[in-house]
Amino acid sequence: MAGKIIINIERCKGCGLCVIVCPKNCIAISKKSNKSGHFPAQTTNCDCTGCAMCAIICPDVVIKVFREEDAAAIKPGRKSKPGLIKEKA
Ligand code: SF4
Ligand code: SF4
Repeated sequence: MAGKIIINIERCKGCGLCVIVCPKNCIAISKKSNKSGHFPAQTTNCDCTGCAMCAIICPDVVIKVFREEDAAAIKPGRKSKPGLIKEKA
């Protein structure tokens, strides 16, 4: 399953928990600080699965997870291509 995350870097405190927990090494700590002086998490080039471990562990709830739509949910005759849907958890 393919996924994608978006990190609100201005609200991230750079604690690094998401970096530790990601099984695909999709997140690293930036060398550039945000407006609050924290060095925020940023995404790397990787195969994010949309597992949402990073969002669950984040104490500041600043990560949004998007997952590729479940192929089984795609109905016959559907014209649009599968996209990414926001994680509901
Ligand atoms: S959703 Fe999972 S694979 Fe994707 S960045 Fe977060 S922890 Fe890593
Ligand atoms: S767990 Fe949340 S606050 Fe901590 S570095 Fe990751 S995104 Fe930032």
